Amino acid sequence: MNASSDDERATPRSPAAEGCEIVVARYAGYCYGVERALRLTEEALARVPGPVATLGPIIHNPSVVRGLAARGVGVVDEVGEMSEGTLVVRTHGVPPEVVAAAHARGLEVVDATCPFVAVAQRKAHDLHEGGYTVVILGEHDHPEVAGLQGFAGGEAIVVAGPADVPVERLRGRRVGVVVQTTQARETLARLAAALAPLARELVVFNTVCEATEKRQSAACELAAQVDVVIVVGGRNSANTMRLVQLCRDIQPRTHHIESAGELREAWVTGARRVGVTAGASTPDSEIEETVDRLRTTCEASDGR
Ligand code: SF4
Repeated sequence: MNASSDDERATPRSPAAEGCEIVVARYAGYCYGVERALRLTEEALARVPGPVATLGPIIHNPSVVRGLAARGVGVVDEVGEMSEGTLVVRTHGVPPEVVAAAHARGLEVVDATCPFVAVAQRKAHDLHEGGYTVVILGEHDHPEVAGLQGFAGGEAIVVAGPADVPVERLRGRRVGVVVQTTQARETLARLAAALAPLARELVVFNTVCEATEKRQSAACELAAQVDVVIVVGGRNSANTMRLVQLCRDIQPRTHHIESAGELREAWVTGARRVGVTAGASTPDSEIEETVDRLRTTCEASDGR
């Protein structure tokens, strides 16, 4: 396993130019769930003769998706687009009826739902079966949230934070909470505090995953130590956008890039320490490329 796993990074600091240091967050890049999903996709490609496609991009990283496409892994938006072959369910998971529809069409299904997401799905199902009104803390249009809603019988209330709580619908009810795995724990704490006085009974499952928590706390720690933060990751990656938000709250000179080519010299002007972090779907190669490019950019900036 390389440094992109959930192990702490061994060499987080890199001297760039004289007087400028580049610091990589202790936890950054590929998480366990993403590595597992990519491995399962590779295994399917090697094992089965027919077409292989993922239901949506396997991860929120355009260059990785392009690389897989070049090797024959397609992307479909709906089960109905495939009439044969193998369908890979990505880390976000899907509502149970989607897997049933794939089986009904005779497709082989490789379920790469992250085990942490699967826990949240089971909790949503159990709460619904137990008669609770299920509240999902998450993004309305995120596929993981759509999957959780499916496991909650399609009746869950999705909220982005305490301000969204439908007070009258929940007053006096038995309320159960599950959380999109990439949410911030602090938002969950505020939601629980808002629900507690309303609900007759309140059950809260903290389904924020460990990899997310490690990356978020390492990013906050980094942002407090540096003059500029660069966050590397897909623009449609929820966990990357959360890192951007958390870092920007601490260090306003936070910039988000998808690839090293987007770096701007003006961003690092006058900076003595530049921090780099990355979302859970960012490969090590992109982090390394960013550090290399930053080293050159810092040197150019220092030379002016
Ligand atoms: S961020 Fe967490 S829940 Fe999402 S794939 Fe990675 S390990 Fe799984």
